[in-house]
Amino acid sequence: MRKVRLTMLGATRELDLPVPGGQGSLVNVLPAARKLTHEMMSLSTRREAERGLKVSCKAACGACCRQLVPISVVEAKSLAAVVAKMPKPRRDAVLRRFEVALAKLEASGLLPPISSEPRTALVSAEEGDEAAAWDDVSHRYFALQIACPFLEKESCSIYEDRPVICREYLVTSDPALCGSIDGGARSVPRPTFPSRGLAVAAERLDGVPPSSIPLTLALEWAEARGHELAATHTGTEMMNAFLDSLVWGEELDDVE
Ligand code: SF4
Repeated sequence: MRKVRLTMLGATRELDLPVPGGQGSLVNVLPAARKLTHEMMSLSTRREAERGLKVSCKAACGACCRQLVPISVVEAKSLAAVVAKMPKPRRDAVLRRFEVALAKLEASGLLPPISSEPRTALVSAEEGDEAAAWDDVSHRYFALQIACPFLEKESCSIYEDRPVICREYLVTSDPALCGSIDGGARSVPRPTFPSRGLAVAAERLDGVPPSSIPLTLALEWAEARGHELAATHTGTEMMNAFLDSLVWGEELDDVE
């Protein structure tokens, strides 16, 4: 365990994060990233409740699961392992949904046709400006209303294994506002983005660019490039890479 002191939103708490044992790949740092995210969002949610803002996310609401979801390559590899372990009928259904999603993206022009090079990004009509390009692809993606391949009956079918970015996102506004990307949904503040921390750690520790990809490309990436995350590191190296990759509004102090 690694004890860290988390100071954010005016509150300080110490928490134990599980340090991966022995040597392993960066995928082993996911339990720590998930715990940190859980603690962070619990604190932020309580602060919002004190202001009279209650989380309105409910079971069987998958509105945000039709957004473009960027995940770290660490999680792409983890999701591929989750799918590989599914019983065959379920796995086949999930793989089919990935295929359908990618076909829709190709048909829309957001994704180039498959070639010898693994695809890692969507195609923006906006050239040069990164923010404008993100805005363009995220709007066009949402307009297609492609459900995440893991969404079943409007619920996440891999809840325990869902990416960190899915754990970071909660809203306190009318759920109807989530039906539009510019609907004015009010999200619970996130003092840092552990999902980005994972991506930056993958780039720093394993030199994998780009370290963040759309969830819909996760399986394709893992099959073609998952081996790039095969390098092993000590638990301390991985934890340091992850914690040092977080950009906080406030400080995160090691106490042990
Ligand atoms: S992984 Fe689960 S929570 Fe995340 S977008 Fe997909 S269905 Fe939604």
